[in-house]
Amino acid sequence: MMDVLTAKNMMTHVAHKMVESEPLLTKFDQTIGDGDHGIGMERGFNAVAELLESDYQPQDVSKLLLKIGSTMMATMGGASGAIFGTLFRSGAKAIKGATVLDTSSLSTFLAAGLHAVYERGGAKPGDKTMIDALVAAVKESEKHSGDLTESLPAIVKAAHQGVEATKDMIATTGKAKTLGERSLGHPDPGAVSMALILEFMCEFATEQVAA
Ligand code: ADP
Ligand code: MG
Repeated sequence: MMDVLTAKNMMTHVAHKMVESEPLLTKFDQTIGDGDHGIGMERGFNAVAELLESDYQPQDVSKLLLKIGSTMMATMGGASGAIFGTLFRSGAKAIKGATVLDTSSLSTFLAAGLHAVYERGGAKPGDKTMIDALVAAVKESEKHSGDLTESLPAIVKAAHQGVEATKDMIATTGKAKTLGERSLGHPDPGAVSMALILEFMCEFATEQVAA
């Protein structure tokens, strides 16, 4: 079970690793979008890292994730600022008062976040968006319970399979839709971001246990 301070340290790790992922995300969005996804994520997670390394002390896990979502929404811009901001903010509200992050609270967070992303953006599974990675993660998370160190590796694997599946999809939403069939064979950049966020959470959680 992960307390709020550990969750804050985990999200600091995620923020730094997402900033480092800028070139990869830029490359994917240059291929099927307008090329700004990496820069948006970099800007958002730089702001998140700055917040988490300040004297900010979240009262609980819900407030931590809510604040991260608000920070992303305020700094990123673009479709993904609204989409990832909505995921974090609505997911956080669904675990109001949570003092620990475990598989159950993570699963509730992801499922509520997914629901809010559906409502906000109107996309659905198969439209070649971050939803395809998120849906896979939600489904896998519901098969597990207990500690994050046991569930996250499987959740990450599922999310990456969701990313792989976007290669066979034709974008029908966002900037990639103008490409039509030319988006085939390439992953959706937002889906890559979604899987990476979970992968970096997993990296921190499992290293924490090994240490
Ligand atoms: P923009 O499309 O404004 O250039 P970004 O490049 O930062 O924004 O982000 C693009 C990503 O946002 C896409 O790869 C996709 O995963 C995600 N996205 C865009 N529109 C939606 C939507 N309606 N629902 C879910 N995700 C979306
Ligand atoms: Mg873009």
